[in-house]
Amino acid sequence: MAKARKFVYSFGGGKADGDGSMKETLGGKGAGLAEMANIGLPVPAGFTISTEMCAQYYRNKGKFPAQVHKDVEKAMKRIEEIMGMNFDDPANPLLVSCRSGARRSMPGMMETVLNIGLTTRTIPGLIRKTGNPRFVYDAYRRLIQMYSDVVMEKAAGIEPAEGKGVRQQLEREMNKIKHAKGYKSDTDLTVDDLKKLIEVYRAKIREVLGKPFPDDSQEQLWGGIRAVFQSWNGKRAISYRRIERIPDEWGTAVNVQAMVFGNMGDSSATGVAFTRNPATGDPHFYGEWLPNAQGEDVVAGTRTPNPINEVTRPAGTEHLPSLEKAMPATYRQLFEVRNRLEKHYRDMQDIEFTIQEGRLWMLQTRVGKRNGPAAVRMAVDMQKERLIALEEAVMRVTPDQLDELLHPIVDPAAEKAARVLAKGLPAGPGGAAGQVVFTANDAVAWTKEGKKAILVREETNPEDVEGMRAAQAILTARGGMTSHAALVARGWGKCCIVGAGEIDVDVHAKEFTVGSVTIREGDWLTLNGTRGFVYQGQLPMVAGSGENPYFNAFTKLCDKVRRLGVRANADTPADAKKARQFGAEGIGLFRTEHMFYGKGAEQPLFILRKMICSKTADERKRALDELFPFIKADIKATLDAMNGLPVTIRLLDPPLHEFVPNRQDERERLAESLGISMADLEARADSLHESNPMMGHRGVRLGVTYPEISECWLRGIFEAAAELTKEGKKVLPEIMIPVLCDLREFTDQAALVRKVHDEAAAKYGMKKIPHLVGTMIEIPRAALMAGEIAREAEFFSYGTNDLTQMTYGFSRDDIGAFVPDYVKKGILPGDPFQILDRKGVGELVAIGIERGRAVRPDLKVGICGEHGGEPNSVHFCHEVGMNYVSCSPFRVPIARLAAAQAVIEEKAARKTAKKPAKKSAKMARR
Ligand code: PEP
Ligand code: MG
Repeated sequence: MAKARKFVYSFGGGKADGDGSMKETLGGKGAGLAEMANIGLPVPAGFTISTEMCAQYYRNKGKFPAQVHKDVEKAMKRIEEIMGMNFDDPANPLLVSCRSGARRSMPGMMETVLNIGLTTRTIPGLIRKTGNPRFVYDAYRRLIQMYSDVVMEKAAGIEPAEGKGVRQQLEREMNKIKHAKGYKSDTDLTVDDLKKLIEVYRAKIREVLGKPFPDDSQEQLWGGIRAVFQSWNGKRAISYRRIERIPDEWGTAVNVQAMVFGNMGDSSATGVAFTRNPATGDPHFYGEWLPNAQGEDVVAGTRTPNPINEVTRPAGTEHLPSLEKAMPATYRQLFEVRNRLEKHYRDMQDIEFTIQEGRLWMLQTRVGKRNGPAAVRMAVDMQKERLIALEEAVMRVTPDQLDELLHPIVDPAAEKAARVLAKGLPAGPGGAAGQVVFTANDAVAWTKEGKKAILVREETNPEDVEGMRAAQAILTARGGMTSHAALVARGWGKCCIVGAGEIDVDVHAKEFTVGSVTIREGDWLTLNGTRGFVYQGQLPMVAGSGENPYFNAFTKLCDKVRRLGVRANADTPADAKKARQFGAEGIGLFRTEHMFYGKGAEQPLFILRKMICSKTADERKRALDELFPFIKADIKATLDAMNGLPVTIRLLDPPLHEFVPNRQDERERLAESLGISMADLEARADSLHESNPMMGHRGVRLGVTYPEISECWLRGIFEAAAELTKEGKKVLPEIMIPVLCDLREFTDQAALVRKVHDEAAAKYGMKKIPHLVGTMIEIPRAALMAGEIAREAEFFSYGTNDLTQMTYGFSRDDIGAFVPDYVKKGILPGDPFQILDRKGVGELVAIGIERGRAVRPDLKVGICGEHGGEPNSVHFCHEVGMNYVSCSPFRVPIARLAAAQAVIEEKAARKTAKKPAKKSAKMARR
């Protein structure tokens, strides 16, 4: 008989049914608890109902199979045995919690109910047992608050108006009592206050929800289980899944676990910690705790938590007790657990613990989310500590995380001169400036209008996620480094400051004050999330320097693994320098026409225009002679900056019409300089107009019709290279012919290359000036004709901007009108100008390489379209066997990482490809 499917997995008492590898079935939390139980850590006993049951729950319209009821009953018995308490027992009652846990953590997006099992039947027994009526009544009021909100309201599909939710209504009742008695904190409420409050709560629940709060342990338990499954399809969980691309069908698991209490008096406590600092990567144990509190008090930001130890104590918290000092023995035990967890998981863990009357309990462990700087530092440190291998270290950082280190920071000079408006905790590093908004909806709306929004909140809650995502940065008045805002922002690498206690937020008036300063909606604010400083107004930003020792060490680790070369697209000596700083091994594309843009280019630009508007070869030659010194100087400076590394110099590929001036005065100056009338100039300009300039007189076509233009550029290249060689420097220019579609175009230009080379070599008394001659593959025909072209071309560089344009027939300048709709409707998986289309464009790339290398096995192949710095496309370039990718200097480190990860993934894929092959061979033998 087939064995019944298992839906309920027990853990506790030094063992578990599942283990850490079963995230898909048990969710991250359940798998973590099972693993901790298996390695003998003190975990309160419990069980996990699998994620599979979540799907069944929805399929069966909220009904559980009879088997699950039986299994839960059995699992509850196990908890009772291990914990020595019984559920619903008036003398010795066991309380349980009910929590969600998906495969991937979705912080705060789903529901939790604590203290399940407290009823009028069990309350007296628990009071007798603990001798602490205050604790029991406080636990009961928390149960009522959570249960009515999560189970009776949200899970029942009731959507109250803003501020009318049952939880808020109950909180208002509590505040009324606190206010009347002059209490500051919830802990000031006495037993009598709590008893009275509980009666008020019961009445309020009846009034608001039309039914009583359940006084039956079993009803509470199943209500909690249902509510957790139900919360998988709650509004905020759905939005978070959209943003994080978590599939709907994964479902959540439910974890039911014996309650342990951190709020049983001064020898009890609760805390959240990270085995290393998730914001910086600092290797010390880092966390926050609160005495006499429950876990939600730490994460909700309602009480300012204390530092866990002395070494990571943030400045300004000298008055707060650390766990290390307050409970030294328990801290030592926790620190031991921290060490074991890191060794066991070989990664930074995010843990939750509770101390009940001096006894330590571990409630959760999971791989901790971290921002870019922390991910990089941890990978480098852990590899050095031999906790992880080189390849693992490389896989620990995502390209986006590495990118965070290259992100803007507040200009240090401007910051020095500015006055700090407020200080908070540096939860998400980097800098951001924007206009203040006070609601998540406004953050979304303002961002849609193209404004930069900074979301300012008292504290954030999971309902705010879309606004947090849209905002440039987040600032909260309350909460610690483990608060919701901090966790979410860190996961996204977003600039964020939390717990800026000096700011007083008034959401209704849409303003906040700091002392006498009032900041209103729309005012500019600048945040330094690395230091936790808030500034009034808009300070300038500077690009991230990447000059972080861990960044450099990490990219070097990537270099040890990758096979692909990484070059940069650079058009100026300054860009070339930046490219080298970022580790580029050459220039893969020097667009020579770019020397006519920007600062200091007025004179050469004027001459270029003269050349473009010339009619006769003589006129053109005269203009080219004038232009020549500029071209040569620019090429020389760039070759020099690259110090012997290869520099791919593209012959002129200008959209001609862009270079004809529109302004009347400039046209007049041009006419005068050419010695022609304005009417003549207008006529010449008109004749340059093309209906379809992207497919017009550009690239190699220009060199074919006006060989003197190519000759001028070639002379610039060869003379610059010859002079540098004579100065004792190494140079390696690679001459690149753009927009080619046929070998004969290449042959035509290659003859010019030979001629100019020989002239320059003779002029400088050299036999050979080092160089290669190759071409760009930008037109589908060129890819198909690669076998012929490679007979003469020494290298190919794929210009995938044009190749994508011509393969799809989408004008690269006009896609804004339709590609977003194509993506929305699922016609395209994404913008093919950003992520290389493997199926179509990629096929052409692969064909070109195959045909080219069939003729010339050592053909050097690279890519210089925008895709060269996009991680997925870099993987593709690796797979098809290119020699290098070339991208903008700032993307060079990302390409280095993506190239290394491509090697590792290729190895892993080969391994898995081998395994099933073995299996099927075995099956066949059977
Ligand atoms: C390309 O087409 O991919 C390319 C690099 O050239 P450009 O973007 O200058 O057309
Ligand atoms: Mg191009």
